[in-house]
Amino acid sequence: MKILVMGPPGAGKGSQSAKIVEHYALPSISTGQMFRDAFNNNEPIGIEAMKYIKDGNLVSDDITNEIVRIRLSKHDAEKSFLLDGYPRTVAQAIALDNLLEEMGTKLDAVFNILSSNDVLFERMEQRRVCKQCDATYHLKFKKPLVEGICDKCGGTLYQRQDDTYESVKNRLEIYESKTKPLLDYYDKKGILYQINGMQEFEKVYNDIELVLRDL
Ligand code: AMP
Repeated sequence: MKILVMGPPGAGKGSQSAKIVEHYALPSISTGQMFRDAFNNNEPIGIEAMKYIKDGNLVSDDITNEIVRIRLSKHDAEKSFLLDGYPRTVAQAIALDNLLEEMGTKLDAVFNILSSNDVLFERMEQRRVCKQCDATYHLKFKKPLVEGICDKCGGTLYQRQDDTYESVKNRLEIYESKTKPLLDYYDKKGILYQINGMQEFEKVYNDIELVLRDL
């Protein structure tokens, strides 16, 4: 199973991806997470990437394609994987197709999680993330049991540098101009599934699962 989860920032692609990955035991490949991990480990690529990330801009296609190429060449990604947040530009989608062709494989399905801008802004401003395990919380709808502490691992919760109003606004504009054209790209290949992200978390997951079962 080789799948991709897309959607504007705050649509829930991270949380849905985490559940799919757990249920189907897939390696998860999140470029945003790889960049944040590299930054927290003081790696040059992470420090370079954070210059773009903090303002909500995209990291260059070259850097992004390269970290994905390295990650996909690892043994655990041979048979299955879930891509979360990559590709985000048509150039990245073409690079990914070329890479998968070299590997003798292709994507099975692309999920696009849809949401309205009002919902997205609300979710992003209230989002808190665990520093240690990256679990996400919402200050109103998915509160941690103890304020500021992750239920799962006891790590400290923080607000991502790019979850501020200005950064979210910029990310949404970039999504519209650079990432939305990908929907057409995958629709033409007949592998695009539109998912309504403005429902209960479990309902969204069920809609995705209905497709996954038939792959
Ligand atoms: P995410 O965790 O998917 O919301 O990504 C956080 C940030 O990392 C994005 O706003 C971008 O700045 C950067 N990023 C993640 N994936 C990509 C990508 N495929 N291309 C360029 N930048 C990316």
